[in-house]
Amino acid sequence: TASNELQPLESMISDAERFKNSEYLTLQCSCGSSFKFGGIQASKDYMITHHGVQCNRCSTNFSNLRVTSQLEKIIRANISLYYSGWLYCDDVTCGIVTRQISVYGRRCIGHSGKAHGCKGIMRYRYSDKQLYNQLLFFDSIFDVDKAKKRSLKPLYEEQGEEDKENVKPITQGALDALCEQNRDFFDICRGVINRYLNNSGRRYVDMGSIFEFMVPEQKA
Ligand SMILES: [Zn+2]
Ligand SMILES: [Zn+2]
Repeated sequence: TASNELQPLESMISDAERFKNSEYLTLQCSCGSSFKFGGIQASKDYMITHHGVQCNRCSTNFSNLRVTSQLEKIIRANISLYYSGWLYCDDVTCGIVTRQISVYGRRCIGHSGKAHGCKGIMRYRYSDKQLYNQLLFFDSIFDVDKAKKRSLKPLYEEQGEEDKENVKPITQGALDALCEQNRDFFDICRGVINRYLNNSGRRYVDMGSIFEFMVPEQKA
C-alpha cells in the first residue's frame, strides 16, 4: 500500500530539502495582495510585527482569524485533493490520468479501456506521504524556534526569482523578540494544523486511517 512508502523523517535533513516540493501557504490580504507566507523571515510582501502578519502593500495587520481561517481552508483543500483520488499511469509513454478505479485493479486500463496495450501500474497522484509532508511544512512555518535558528524553508530559494537586495534581513535581536511576541498566536496556528496531524500519537502515520472520517459515505 501507499503507506508502506512512509519513511521516518531524518532529523539531519534541512527544511529546504524536506519541503522542497511542498506548497507555500498563500495569504490573501483585504487589499487584494496575495503572497507566499514563509513564517518569521524577511519578505518583500509581508512583515512580522509584534502582533502578527502585516501586509507590505497596504500596511494592514491580519487579524488572527484571517490567518487561521485561510490556513484551515488550504489544509482542507489539500485533503480534498488527496481524496479526489486522481490516478496516473507510471508508464511515462502512456500518460493516462483518471479517477476511474479499474475493475482490473492497479493495472492501467490503457487507451482501449480494457487493460491491454499498457503494462503500467496506476498510482495515486497525490500520495498520503505527500499530504503528510505538506501538513508538516505548514506546521514548520509557525515554529518560532525554527525561525529563531533561521532554519525555515527560505522564501527565495531560486536564484533570480526575487531581488534579494530589496529584502532586508531581520537582525538576530529583532528576530528573537518577534518570535517571542508571536509565539502564542503561532502556537494557535500550529494547533489548527495539529488537529489534522495528531489523531495518532505516532509521527509516522497512515493518512488513510487519519482521514477516514472525511471519506464521503458510499452511495447506495
Ligand atoms: Zn494589504
Ligand atoms: Zn498506462
